[in-house]
Amino acid sequence: MIKETLTASSYSLGTLINLRVQGNEAQRAIEEALGRLSDIDDKMSAFKDTSEISKINLKAGRTSQIVGKDTYLVIKEAIKYSRLLEGAFDPTIRPLVSLWNIGTEQEEMPEECEVDNMLQLVNYKDVILDESNSSIRLRREKQALDLGGIAKGYAADEVRDIFYKYNISSALIDLGGNIFAFGGKEDGTPWRVGIQDPFKTRGEFMGVLSVTNKSVVTSGNYEKYFTKAGKRFHHIIDPKTGYPSISKIISATIISDNSIDGDGLSTGVYIIGIDKAMRLIESISGVEAIFITQDKKTYVTSGINNIFTITNKEFLGK
Ligand code: ADP
Ligand code: MG
Repeated sequence: MIKETLTASSYSLGTLINLRVQGNEAQRAIEEALGRLSDIDDKMSAFKDTSEISKINLKAGRTSQIVGKDTYLVIKEAIKYSRLLEGAFDPTIRPLVSLWNIGTEQEEMPEECEVDNMLQLVNYKDVILDESNSSIRLRREKQALDLGGIAKGYAADEVRDIFYKYNISSALIDLGGNIFAFGGKEDGTPWRVGIQDPFKTRGEFMGVLSVTNKSVVTSGNYEKYFTKAGKRFHHIIDPKTGYPSISKIISATIISDNSIDGDGLSTGVYIIGIDKAMRLIESISGVEAIFITQDKKTYVTSGINNIFTITNKEFLGK
């Protein structure tokens, strides 16, 4: 029997979702995956009043909120990455994210004192997890969580697991550029995932990765930003300064087995600068990275030389 390939698009987790799935039960797998994505969005969105994240935020400084297994796990992983990245990744970034409002119609340059005020509220050490009853509490009033830097990775892993359950043979899971290459292509060859040219608009690539069963996640400054006085203010905020990160990195791609790791790491390493970022990723086994800096240089970790090709010569110099 010829297995059919189905495609589906929808909007969830604040982004465009594209699924391409081959398998006898592709239709059922897609339906379950889309349902799971909106379930994750309902629980983890900081924009929905009834989400578990909003409930935690509303109770900040007062009481704890019991959450489901999945929200608990994502927060726990977020804290793990906060520690690993010494606070460059921080899920309590929400007060600053809402002050800057980048990527929305309300985006504008905040006053320095406002930034300083919000900065006081950001500290992942104030997230108190209680495994015994699966509850989360924020230590101080007005503190708030934002899982925007990690939830899509978790969601991609969940879709992957659903696809396994339905014996899917080949799939491409694309959650707004957060890619999971499931299996190989329909013909059995590796998936070819394009790495966005960060100086161009969407869809123009600087290189291509050949992967099977891997997550490919990129954090960049080229999608959500505004420009003022020639400076680009993008959506990855440095929790040490309260301003959009100004490291030389303008694009950080992480290749890993699990997308939650790729998502958490890509947002965090973006901030810590190229030297630290290279050292950190080289030290984690099974995780590789591609970094592009403002001066158009490309840095790759040792494990991906064979699977990554730069297709735009302008990025070859180092
Ligand atoms: P995208 O969601 O655009 O694919 P990222 O995974 O890099 O990109 O996540 C960026 C989002 O993460 C921001 O929109 C914001 O919600 C949140 N965020 C911003 N700065 C940080 C930070 N330093 N630590 C954790 N999350 C952050
Ligand atoms: Mg991320």
